[in-house]
Amino acid sequence: MVEAKHGEARIAPDFLFSGPDAPEESDLYKCVHCGFCLQACPTYLETGLETESPRGRIALMKAVNEERIGMTDSVIRHWDLCIQCRACEVACPSGVPYGSLIEATMAQVERRRKPGALARFAENVSLNHVLPHQGRLKLLMSAAKAYQRSGAQSLVRKSGVLRRLAPSLADMEASMPRVSSTYFSAKGQTVEAEGEARARAAILSGCVMPLVNGPEMDAVVRVLARNGCEVVAPERQVCCGAIHSHVGYLDAARKMARRNIDVFSEAGVDAVVVASAGCGSRMKEYAHLLRDDPQYSEKARRFSDMVKDIHEFLVELPFVPPRAALDCRVTYQDSCHLANAQRITSAPRRILDSIPGMEFVELPNAGRCCGAGGTYTITEREFSLRVLNSKMDDFETTGADVLTTANPGCLMQLQYGIAERGLPAQVKYVTDLLDEAYRRERSG
Ligand code: SF4
Ligand code: SF4
Repeated sequence: MVEAKHGEARIAPDFLFSGPDAPEESDLYKCVHCGFCLQACPTYLETGLETESPRGRIALMKAVNEERIGMTDSVIRHWDLCIQCRACEVACPSGVPYGSLIEATMAQVERRRKPGALARFAENVSLNHVLPHQGRLKLLMSAAKAYQRSGAQSLVRKSGVLRRLAPSLADMEASMPRVSSTYFSAKGQTVEAEGEARARAAILSGCVMPLVNGPEMDAVVRVLARNGCEVVAPERQVCCGAIHSHVGYLDAARKMARRNIDVFSEAGVDAVVVASAGCGSRMKEYAHLLRDDPQYSEKARRFSDMVKDIHEFLVELPFVPPRAALDCRVTYQDSCHLANAQRITSAPRRILDSIPGMEFVELPNAGRCCGAGGTYTITEREFSLRVLNSKMDDFETTGADVLTTANPGCLMQLQYGIAERGLPAQVKYVTDLLDEAYRRERSG
């Protein structure tokens, strides 16, 4: 890592920040090391280590920026362990944009990582050659569905053979989402508004969500139509690029952002509605992602202004409160990308509060991450489960039979946690319950 030049040791350029995607100094030096963010950080709370805190991670970024250290494996390890939940951003009194800093840092890390390892190859294939292509993803998910429903999955799990032969593959298998019975497809269809039309909205289909939560996406469309929205699902839309950004593939994320901007801008809608908090957060930040693109910066700014999270959109409409009652005890886990990145916490609770008959109980530490974080649950399995364990301890105190949330990654992670503990509870989206109440209303 260290090169000698003119008798002086200096860090090799590969180990330093460089290029347009380096963390911006004006953001880096906003951090005054006060430590107010520490108690909000799940990795700091789990370890008590400064290096696993936002302040510690920023200190490492500054040290690399000042060429005092290089991006060695041990430095990168501390950034890798960040869940990118952005709770530190909310807690920070100095306005440090940690999300932008870690995104830029991971783009630098991505440049440095060595090619060749199996995990790296798999990451490259899935991010560049599968996720952006809905047809390929569908094929893969159909194979996963056959594996899950044929009995092969339970055989593999019961035998423990995969865990003995390839523990990391077994971890991936354990995190595999349950593929839904039906898929949601964006085929350019339009769903008419019920009654007088109040708005025309385009819906983001996304990459994994329409395949693992197809019926739940249908519920989102029904809820919108019930509230007087004409809903269109533009055909050529692609994955939002959130997962790519998370691991530093910023160029790939930009390519998908440009495509989505073009496709949704042609749809002639009042809003682009997003049911996944992670995707909504990414799309609201296309303006930042494409800020240096002379052809797209202005278009991206206009596009980002049109993006609305589903709960935000429904509350602003405003939505029609359901009349039919649901008999259950419900709690809500804030998804980090809704609460911390989009700063939306009251809209989902207002929707839940509007459903008659339901008892709502606050989840202790509802704003603390569940440990899902993009690919974190696969790449940092042990840590992800530690964070999930604390979440499940909190959930058990509520006595709720339904745990609601607003992001597919959180939904899958929480479902895993509940199944592991054998709890008699279900995990649902807030919109599932609203849809259920509307449907009961109809059936009388
Ligand atoms: S990120 Fe903000 S809260 Fe955390 S140490 Fe820096 S200035 Fe303080
Ligand atoms: S994004 Fe989350 S995990 Fe990462 S440093 Fe901030 S609070 Fe900690």
